[in-house]
Amino acid sequence: MASEIQNVSSNIEIYLRMRPLLSGTASHYEIDKDERIVKWHVPRHVAAGMANHQKERYDFFFTDIFDTDSKQDEVFEKVARKVVMGALDGYNGTIFAYGQTGSGKTFSITGGAERYVDRGIIPRAISLIYSELGNRSDYTYTIHFSYLEIYNENGFDLLNPDHETKTLEDLPKVILLEDEENLIHLRNLSSHLATNEEEALNLLFVGDTNRMISATPMNMASSRSHCIFTATIEARKSGEDSVRKSKLHLVDLAGSERVSKTGVDGQILKEAKYINLSLHFLEQVIVALQERNQGKNRQHIPYRNSMMTSILRDSIGGNCQTVMLATVSIAQEQLEETISTCRFAQRVA
Ligand code: ADP
Ligand code: MG
Repeated sequence: MASEIQNVSSNIEIYLRMRPLLSGTASHYEIDKDERIVKWHVPRHVAAGMANHQKERYDFFFTDIFDTDSKQDEVFEKVARKVVMGALDGYNGTIFAYGQTGSGKTFSITGGAERYVDRGIIPRAISLIYSELGNRSDYTYTIHFSYLEIYNENGFDLLNPDHETKTLEDLPKVILLEDEENLIHLRNLSSHLATNEEEALNLLFVGDTNRMISATPMNMASSRSHCIFTATIEARKSGEDSVRKSKLHLVDLAGSERVSKTGVDGQILKEAKYINLSLHFLEQVIVALQERNQGKNRQHIPYRNSMMTSILRDSIGGNCQTVMLATVSIAQEQLEETISTCRFAQRVA
């Protein structure tokens, strides 16, 4: 049974996606498609407003770069297809969207609501999963979904049916438990069987609706929380008893922008502190994994520092496929955040 699983490349892939400009002035940038490098030019008047500014041009390397005209379909094919297929083959996989608020994380992960072509990675992954099952009749698949929101290190179940009648404060928090074998269990996170694409899409819809509703009572915008949509895939080969289990996590991270201390109240500062910390811990884990991949002596991977890295422990690094999609604005007034996102991506690459 185990011999069926081949090693997958443990290197983490980092992609960059640029959001089309809605208004304002575009930054001057070039993409070298062959070298997969983006070069951001910083005009003097923009540089003057930037903290930590050192150069007139910043170059960053990626696995691939999607310019503003990229389509959802193309992003899915390059970024997500192999991770989804891997999950059906028994490998855990995680796709993160990282970037400042408004840069296109949710558009990339979930998609735009209006047009069918704007479907994002989650609905396309669901569609691929169920269409693939027809090609894999030597296995019986059972697929469950869960949808978790992490806000200030507290977990909330976006598929809890009480969402409609209770406020977030009254819902049971999702609690992380570790058993004797160091396996993580999540108490109060519901898991839902979906036997076809429609049922799975409905779960996504319910969770996304709850995500929007729950934003109000705690004055919490969804940009301040991380959301993890997880498919747990069990495959049983005909005539065998053992079950192969894998997980696919699709993660819409909280906005990476730094909150300036001026004019924000205590609540927002507290949120910003949690977000910065949890993104920092995620970075530490990925950097440690990359160092280990490069043969450096890294025994300890600091998974336990945050809820997200604890939960994703068995799905990033090791025999898993991990992809980071960094999303940026090309607006000139966002150039500092854009460079900061590219820097993050470069550190974890
Ligand atoms: P984030 O989740 O990072 O805060 P969103 O995904 O909500 O950002 O994107 C902000 C706005 O820009 C939304 O209205 C979204 O539909 C739009 N948008 C983002 N990326 C794209 C894109 N690649 N093409 C077209 N519209 C986009
Ligand atoms: Mg969003």
